[in-house]
Amino acid sequence: MSASKKTGRALFQNEPRALKREVRNATHRVLSSGQFILGSELEAFENAWSTYTGSEFTVGVGNGHDAIQLGLRALGIGAGDEVVTTAITAFATVQAIYNVGATPVIADIDPETALVSIDSVREKITSRTRAMVFVHLYGRAGDMELWVEFAESRGLYLIEDCAQAHGARFNQKHVGTFGVFGAFSFYPTKNLGGIGDAGALVTSDPSLYETVVKLRNYGQKNRYEHLVWGFNSRLDEIQAAVLRARLGWLEETNERRRAIEALLRDSLSGTTRIRLLSDVPDPRQHVHHLFVVTTPNRDAIRQELLSKGIKTLIHYPIPSHLQSPFLSSSGLVNLPAAEKHARECLSIMVDPWSTRRELARVSEQLKSL
Ligand SMILES: *Cc1c(COP(=O)(O)O)cnc(C)c1O
Repeated sequence: MSASKKTGRALFQNEPRALKREVRNATHRVLSSGQFILGSELEAFENAWSTYTGSEFTVGVGNGHDAIQLGLRALGIGAGDEVVTTAITAFATVQAIYNVGATPVIADIDPETALVSIDSVREKITSRTRAMVFVHLYGRAGDMELWVEFAESRGLYLIEDCAQAHGARFNQKHVGTFGVFGAFSFYPTKNLGGIGDAGALVTSDPSLYETVVKLRNYGQKNRYEHLVWGFNSRLDEIQAAVLRARLGWLEETNERRRAIEALLRDSLSGTTRIRLLSDVPDPRQHVHHLFVVTTPNRDAIRQELLSKGIKTLIHYPIPSHLQSPFLSSSGLVNLPAAEKHARECLSIMVDPWSTRRELARVSEQLKSL
């Protein structure tokens, strides 16, 4: 038996036939168009993404890391500047800050939500802090009223890393539209995923938009006229076409994720061996990119779940501030809540397109813990 048969089918395989057909049609359309970079598919996806998120502008770029990197560069953030972000995130968030020449400063989390803690961020701010990157971790939108006000009162740029939160809203407004810009990744495993690397930046600032459009394409304004030093970070036509097809299904997929989260919450309500993160006040506030629980006996629980046919992963086993590049460059920083979370967190991997039967099986197994 192959590994994929044992653990459920591979990415996208459980999706409805109609969705698969739309994706296939999109790729064929691009192939026969003969236009592969910076064409009409990109423009159509950028418009669709702006409409969906309620953003003024979208710039498609190569990946989520680049969306953060190009946005920071467009804001003029670089050497000598500090940018605060969270200890529990994909390292890409931190790497993007480093890659523009700025110093990433890592703050602790709130253990109830696993989102960055405002008290910790407050402590990390110095006269050199220019911005903070807020990560809507695991699909959960942060309290943007709080963060917008905080950033304004400190004179900081608020940047939103929305790589795990496509479609999440705070007070009916999409994540990515609160800060100076929002960065999305469309890596295949994200809530909206391409069939390769892809990303986008959203903003309502026309001059930031214009700058990022140039930065993604070697600083070009017109062909062969380079106004600034730039990057090669273009969202290609195949990805744009596939993403536009898949966008039509995003709300339904997110609804499925909400139903799965409710089922897991219910199935685990009888055990004290596993803790759930706190619930959200408004269901729209969470798109459940991952179903994360915590337990002090992680290794044992992981093994037990695996023996019951339930796959788990760890997001993330090493908090950002304990990754090697930090250990060699700065003194040791203590972030106790993040360190505990990294030791205890466990992501229960359930495909949003699982059948009722598969879900019932997972639920039964969790109830028996
Ligand atoms: C996936 C992810 C990224 C990076 O996206 P890439 O497209 O892989 O560059 C950044 N931040 C978070 C929180 C992510 O989950």
